[in-house]
Amino acid sequence: MYNILVRESGRKGETMHYLDNSATTPVLPEAAEAAVHAMREAFGNPSSQHRLGNRAAAMLKESRACVAQAMGAQPGEVYFNSGGTEGINTAVFGVCRKNFRRGKHIITTAVEHSATLNSLKKLEGEGFSVTRLQPDVDGHIPLGRLEEALREDTILLTCMLVNNEVGACMPVGEMGRLLKRRCPHALFHIDAVQGFFRVPLTPAKWGCDLMSVSGHKVGAPKGIGAFYMKKGVALPPLLYGGGQENGFRPGTEPMPNIAALAAACRVRAAAFAGDCEHVRGLCAYLKAQVAEAFPWAVQNGVNDVPHVVSLSFPGCKSEVMLRILEQEEVYVSAGSACAKGHESHVLRAMGLPKERIDSALRVSFAPHNTRADVDAFIAAARKGAAMLRR
Ligand code: PLP
Repeated sequence: MYNILVRESGRKGETMHYLDNSATTPVLPEAAEAAVHAMREAFGNPSSQHRLGNRAAAMLKESRACVAQAMGAQPGEVYFNSGGTEGINTAVFGVCRKNFRRGKHIITTAVEHSATLNSLKKLEGEGFSVTRLQPDVDGHIPLGRLEEALREDTILLTCMLVNNEVGACMPVGEMGRLLKRRCPHALFHIDAVQGFFRVPLTPAKWGCDLMSVSGHKVGAPKGIGAFYMKKGVALPPLLYGGGQENGFRPGTEPMPNIAALAAACRVRAAAFAGDCEHVRGLCAYLKAQVAEAFPWAVQNGVNDVPHVVSLSFPGCKSEVMLRILEQEEVYVSAGSACAKGHESHVLRAMGLPKERIDSALRVSFAPHNTRADVDAFIAAARKGAAMLRR
């Protein structure tokens, strides 16, 4: 059903098998068309007071309604921004700037994305104290660890919904309830980047005040995202400028990207149930094929969502396997794209031995993938294992 534009590889006549969708996804044709339409025809500035401006403003309103629905939010709670990194920075620095008089303690997990970890490192340098909850060996955060970490001066809990390396889901509903019971004034930010269109987003049910999603993980272009700020919560903005996005995220709205994100949300929302079923089937097929071809391979952690699986092939160094797979037009990654070459802090926090960490491959699916992609991965990994495990 998905007619993805990038099936052709760089090598003539060969099909690309792209299984690195947690790093980024190919842009959906519908999203690309919406962007081109916004660039070429509906190119007005939504703030302009003439017909072209009004058309752009209507498109902005319609896009916000569509994205809000996908985020389980009201349109007035959604602010367009540049993506997950900006959302995380907005939440972390906004809460600290607003509430530092109440306290200077922040809780997060040891398995967050570098956007969170590095923002918090910066704040530590400014006198804030940060507790990083350690995961268990499956990649989950035991609730008891949050309970022990909560303090009277806790002002922020920031936690991912789905881990980008192993696919473990965090118990955000229980976390939110516990936080609100013990520290009612503290705010809860969820990094839902890897959960968007993997699981339904229900921020109100989770006790969530702030939430970040990113377009390029769901078939929209890079450089567009959306930030949820619950009605009644008012953070200071990161940027100062005009009155766009209610003054919370000033700058002329990037309408091509916004229209593309809305178009991707429309496509993904309409197909959500079927897509989840399809990806679940692909994940089960991958695991069965791996078990048969490489009985010595191991899965790292528990993937509560079928979209991402971390597998270790002991004896086969990740970087070398990546190159071998690439030669067969199979694209996966060793872990987070942002960690580029560094040992995975996620697998290390889970307490995995070095050999498992050094031989990890992350396979991540999007709905356009097929069993042929899995078959190509298995065939290429067989070649790699035969070369490296002599
Ligand atoms: N959070 C998670 C869990 C991610 O996987 C990513 C991207 O890889 C980000 C945040 C950053 O999002 P963006 O690339 O839109 O800045």
